[in-house]
Amino acid sequence: MLQATTVVLLALTVGASQVFGHTGCGGHEIARRNPGGPVINSRAELRSLQSRRPLGPRQAVTDEASAAQSIDPTQECTAYSYTPVLNAKSGFPTIWQTAEIVPGDNDATTLFASINSTVNSKFPNIGPKGSHTGNFTGVAYNNSDPDCWWTWRQCTTPAADTGLHADITTVPEPDTWGFGFDDGPNCSHNALYDYLRDNGQKATMFYIGSNVMDWPLQALRGLDDGHEICVHTWSHQYMTSFTNEEAFAELYYTRKAIQTVLGVTPKCWRPPYGDVDNRIRLIAESLNLTNIVWSDDTEDWKVGTDGVTAEDVGLNYQAVIDKVGNGTYTSSGPVVLNHELNNFTMSEMVTYYEKIRAAFKYVVPIAAAYNWTTPYVETNVTFPDFLTYTNQSSSSSSSSASPSASAAGSNGAGAVASGSRSGSATSTAASGAASTTAARSSAALGMDAKGAAVWGFSFMLIGRIALSMC
Ligand SMILES: [Zn+2]
Repeated sequence: MLQATTVVLLALTVGASQVFGHTGCGGHEIARRNPGGPVINSRAELRSLQSRRPLGPRQAVTDEASAAQSIDPTQECTAYSYTPVLNAKSGFPTIWQTAEIVPGDNDATTLFASINSTVNSKFPNIGPKGSHTGNFTGVAYNNSDPDCWWTWRQCTTPAADTGLHADITTVPEPDTWGFGFDDGPNCSHNALYDYLRDNGQKATMFYIGSNVMDWPLQALRGLDDGHEICVHTWSHQYMTSFTNEEAFAELYYTRKAIQTVLGVTPKCWRPPYGDVDNRIRLIAESLNLTNIVWSDDTEDWKVGTDGVTAEDVGLNYQAVIDKVGNGTYTSSGPVVLNHELNNFTMSEMVTYYEKIRAAFKYVVPIAAAYNWTTPYVETNVTFPDFLTYTNQSSSSSSSSASPSASAAGSNGAGAVASGSRSGSATSTAASGAASTTAARSSAALGMDAKGAAVWGFSFMLIGRIALSMC
């Protein structure tokens, strides 16, 4: 395993400098643009090309040598054009630009009109806040946080009279790591995805709509590997800065992109930077999307900015791991923020994965933690519930994203059920250190809204809230 880990780390490190594209999250690359290239008409054609030009999903590697050979980021990020995307492109906003309803899209127009009417009637006083890039300078806001604005005080539970659901910040299972990655699909993610596959590990993948359109074959691999796919907006900007229509379009077209490319319609989402308030929550809930934020941030995305170093990120990982031992997670587990953003963020997870597995009883995608056995609108696609995923029971609705699903378990904690169409289930044993103890949950998420305590009815001028999370 050590050798395999070394190979993966090497592969993830190789293409670190090659980039062109969009910059986000603390100045990091969040996408390599795919300007188009040789046309791939279908997944079947892709498979026939794989031995010559491994652009995306590949056959399983059989040994370390073949794995090292086939995870060359330069090859992985070679531009291509995918016919299903070319055919659908005119029905979508321009990638990496703020989404708006595409002219002539009657379905979107009709749906938005209905949602907009509800939003305006329910929250007439909540308007857009700050800039799309997170500059909230000069924004006046009531210190009592009437909008339950996460970016202000990490509010995650809207007042009861709003009728909105609370955000998901933790998983209900003790000593269990809620496992996911933001910002994918990254075109050079094969080494990471291979590593997850080889460990029988599924995750919740929060995909950016523009990345799905840019790198559809990489997105397909996420589904095929049995990961849970959620929405992470179209252009990865601050959601509370958008008008109702823009916020709607950011979610609607990402959901539609995933449906178009992967054939499934997600029911979950995560706001970039955690930036959400009641207005945005209502728009998302109207699209049948459950908001999943997090309790702990590795700050992997932040390396190189604000003085954050790789060592700091390692300490953040270790801090979450240590909380198992002090009893923090005896009643519920953390949802931890980490990223498929760049080579560092991917390799850092690989570095800590074995430690995580050793400390936590289970490492599971959010769907498994919450027993969401039908995570998509398409109910024929199913996912294992918690007991099945963790191999504690084989009687419940195990399955996969395909009719030929299989659920697998192995000796104990961490066994994995396949949720993929084509993937096979593998599993590995995990050591199960138990644990216990106290802790702090979500807070440490270093947001630092300025301003001292003030009267409940007063208004605060918010200084720039630095890119606090991704
Ligand atoms: Zn993100």
